Amino acid sequence: MKPIRMVDLKSQYDKINAQIDEEIRKVMEGTAFINGPAVSQFQDSLEKYLGIRHVIPCANGTDALQIAMMALGLKPGDEVITASFTFIATAEVIALLRLKPVLVEVDPDTFTIDPVAVERAITPRTRAIVPVHLFGQCADMAPIIDIAQKHNLFVIEDNAQAIGADYRFPDGNVKKAGTIGDIGCTSFFPSKNLGCYGDGGAVFTDHDEYARMIRAITNHGSTVRYYHDYIGVNSRLDSIQAAILNVKLRHLDEYAEARRKAAGFYDKAFSGHPGLKTPFRAPYSNHVFHQYTLVTRGIDRDGLRTYLESKGIPAMVYYPVPLHLQKAYIDPRYGEGDLPVTESLARQVISLPMHTELEDDQMKYITDHVLRYFDHQ
Ligand SMILES: *Cc1c(COP(=O)(O)O)cnc(C)c1O
Repeated sequence: MKPIRMVDLKSQYDKINAQIDEEIRKVMEGTAFINGPAVSQFQDSLEKYLGIRHVIPCANGTDALQIAMMALGLKPGDEVITASFTFIATAEVIALLRLKPVLVEVDPDTFTIDPVAVERAITPRTRAIVPVHLFGQCADMAPIIDIAQKHNLFVIEDNAQAIGADYRFPDGNVKKAGTIGDIGCTSFFPSKNLGCYGDGGAVFTDHDEYARMIRAITNHGSTVRYYHDYIGVNSRLDSIQAAILNVKLRHLDEYAEARRKAAGFYDKAFSGHPGLKTPFRAPYSNHVFHQYTLVTRGIDRDGLRTYLESKGIPAMVYYPVPLHLQKAYIDPRYGEGDLPVTESLARQVISLPMHTELEDDQMKYITDHVLRYFDHQ
């Protein structure tokens, strides 16, 4: 059996290395390392794949979120509602721009932002909602869009974990994750579903005016060289990363299928187990399994993790501390116990190895050992 990794980028590379190496070589020969043809090609291909007017590549997913908030003209003191159960970057950029993160509860089944909690958190200062499509499944966007329209709020989707997922509206209309709100943001960090071999990110929008602002902001607030109309940043996807993404985008749907197959294997082994809740499939989204996350019941979750590690099985806890309990984000408005669903998930979730190259013998070894841990209790 091959050694088990949380994410096995080496085995994935081994299958596409001829194409990747060739595309990197072309960039080296052409020397257009910044904003070269590979970047515009990637932008066009991703626009087509997502069915959106504008993709603006940038340096990473955190920048993408920051740039989106800058482009919408959010001002210090404006409140932005997001989920407390997410990766820190989502709230970090809100705080960094001196906006006010308002952290709310998630749904216990989907782990994504609870629309009822969103509506309850709205005040006269609220300007935007940032749903996170956590672990590869879309947040429930239809009610969020309704709430946003009713209260005149922007919607910025944090799509770092669900690129390629589809969302189905109640009327049957289907849209790609990240193309539903005003602006979508993603990351191409190596372990994401569409990952490059370094840092990368992108901002998506259908609005021409937002796109113009986003482009200017990523380029020092400039549309004409050395004339700066806005305060911007320097945030670019480099050509080598774009060349890698051009190859990997062609495999994205097949990669999602491989992840779903692995999830199906895990589901089968754990279904009906009293101590393990397998990932819920929302009726409105397909799942691209950025993570395969179990909710444990009645066991010492960290004990399970240590046991698996002792058997050569990596497992991770995403996320052990909700944002409202993080030291840097301590806010007199919330304390321990205020977001019970989020807090219990932080104590009970565990994510198993999930990537495109999992083999049956590896998955059997993983599931056998997870189940064996319960026998030892
Ligand atoms: C990875 C991730 C980000 C940040 O992306 P980087 O490219 O690492 O900056 C933001 N939000 C979520 C939910 C993520 O998983």
